[in-house]
Amino acid sequence: MVDDFASLLERIKDHLRSEGADRVGRLELPPPDIVWVGNRTIIRNFRQIAGAMRRDPQMMAVFMGKELATAANLDQDVRLVLLGRKDRESVERVIQRYFKEYVVCPVCGSPDTKLVRERKITFLLCEACGAKSPVREVK
Ligand SMILES: [Zn+2]
Repeated sequence: MVDDFASLLERIKDHLRSEGADRVGRLELPPPDIVWVGNRTIIRNFRQIAGAMRRDPQMMAVFMGKELATAANLDQDVRLVLLGRKDRESVERVIQRYFKEYVVCPVCGSPDTKLVRERKITFLLCEACGAKSPVREVK
């Protein structure tokens, strides 16, 4: 009886461990829901994408604008409106770049990270391995 309980606990722990390992380096990012209206490109689920990475949509909007060399405005904190017609490929590439640079830990590959600012330097702090890596400033 006691043995059974212990082995059950072991099995639950194994299960949890493998689930945790599965998450390393992988994060389900929702594909950008893009519409083109006139001379603008609108990502309708931008907030959801930023939320999946646990990042501030405002900071990500600034990054998107810089990387795509255009004006980027958050509409009601939900949609991202880009000036100019940007194709899906470019938009996805920039989102992936943001993900690699500001979300994934360069040491262990975990996406369970957060950004912290210390003395005007921004660091990527990894919740999985504890590494603290400086990142490029987004201004
Ligand atoms: Zn790490």
